[in-house]
Amino acid sequence: RCASGEEALAFGREHNARLVDLKFCDLLGTWQHFTMGINEVPAEAFEEGLGFDGSSIRGWRGIQESDMLVMPDPYTAFIDPFIAEPTLSFICAISDPITRQTYVRDPRSIAIRAEAYLKSTGIADTAYFGPEAEFFIFDDVRYENQTNGSFFEVDSVEGIWNTGRDEEPNLGHKIRHKEGYFPVPPADTLQDVRDQMVLGLESLGVSVERQHHEVATAGQAEIDVRFNTLLRIGDDMMTYKYVIKNIARRFGKTVTFMPKPIFGDNGSGMHTHQSLWKDGKPLFAGNRYAGLSELALHYIGGILKHAPALTAITNPTTNSYKRLVPGFEAPVNLAYSARNRSASVRIPIYSPSPKAKRIEFRTPDPAANIYLACAAMLMAGLDGIQNRIDPGEPLEKNIYELPPEELKKVPTVPDSLRGAIEALEKDHEFLLKGDVFTKDVVETLLELRKKDYDTLRLRPHPIEYQMYYDI
Ligand code: GLN
Ligand code: MG
Ligand code: MG
Ligand code: MG
Repeated sequence: RCASGEEALAFGREHNARLVDLKFCDLLGTWQHFTMGINEVPAEAFEEGLGFDGSSIRGWRGIQESDMLVMPDPYTAFIDPFIAEPTLSFICAISDPITRQTYVRDPRSIAIRAEAYLKSTGIADTAYFGPEAEFFIFDDVRYENQTNGSFFEVDSVEGIWNTGRDEEPNLGHKIRHKEGYFPVPPADTLQDVRDQMVLGLESLGVSVERQHHEVATAGQAEIDVRFNTLLRIGDDMMTYKYVIKNIARRFGKTVTFMPKPIFGDNGSGMHTHQSLWKDGKPLFAGNRYAGLSELALHYIGGILKHAPALTAITNPTTNSYKRLVPGFEAPVNLAYSARNRSASVRIPIYSPSPKAKRIEFRTPDPAANIYLACAAMLMAGLDGIQNRIDPGEPLEKNIYELPPEELKKVPTVPDSLRGAIEALEKDHEFLLKGDVFTKDVVETLLELRKKDYDTLRLRPHPIEYQMYYDI
């Protein structure tokens, strides 16, 4: 890890880099980039920034005020393994060339302000996040086209079982429904792909704890990175998506982080483990329920109270709500439990060590902008601590099987993006504290979500033909 711009440039030159690639995250959570000659990037650029046109970046500025600066972060320097020419790469912050302030809609700036706000409260000095992202690996149609010239051979070997494609007679052996978790190869056809993803991440300084096939019939994967602080877990997870998509491409595969690509099978979540620390001591360990502290219970109280509003950030797509349905290990009900994977907050009890004490919020999905999602969850948890919000009693039963009278009492996540939008409209004061999410950011997010909601709402859906054509 480089401590200064000079050090980073020297590191690049040692690796024969003649180019510098500047990457930054847009409001929806996608990396954008442009490339410069290394001699065009002087050491001062790390203080003064490098200009680009920000007018066409989703959710950012209008054309009338489009000049912006990228500020490369030396700590993030890496040689990009997916660009043929040796290229020194940086994750960048965004600044305004006139005010020289960080741009409020830069997701990394929101993460930075959330960390500063946490310190300013005196409650804790560090928040750790450990996201467990899941995703599907399918065959890449473009790759097929390039390699064999055919536009018709587009079947996904892994995805074929239940993509809805009619195949009669059955042309070959397929793994049984939902038995992808997790027999060894050859049933697991993606071991080698996931291994290369892990090694790719490790080579870029992102530590991986484990990888495995996930529960969906075939083609679903999970790779868990080691927990990190807010800004750094954001950088790690952006690198994660980049590495995973690019390694998949090398195998002629494509990866999707969309939360529910296949009807009737598990979707992809991004359960997020979180804990607060102060002066090197874990604040979530104590002698209350499941070995938690009172502070941790209040944090849970804040997460559960604000969960409907949070979903507009942690589950940002129309597709997200197709995952949040009963029966697929995705949480629907807003409750907490140490035993129960059907609750939206789970307290892992694998390890008795106070250092390992954390909560797992299971609602988020990997379509979320990681910086915004972690910052928003932190703000909800802190609000819970500041207002001593009681999370109520833990729910120890399988929520999917509760009798209707009891189930009625348990609040739920919104059942559509529209519900999430309405929740965030009503409940966002907790995000505005310390100017972490400004009003401008909340309004922009709401606008983007409404646009997505309408994009789907205004169109006749294919399934409507099956339901209504012959009415
Ligand atoms: N895929 C499930 C979800 O949507 C989680 C499955 C698991 O990790 N146990 O959250
Ligand atoms: Mg997991
Ligand atoms: Mg999982
Ligand atoms: Mg989990």
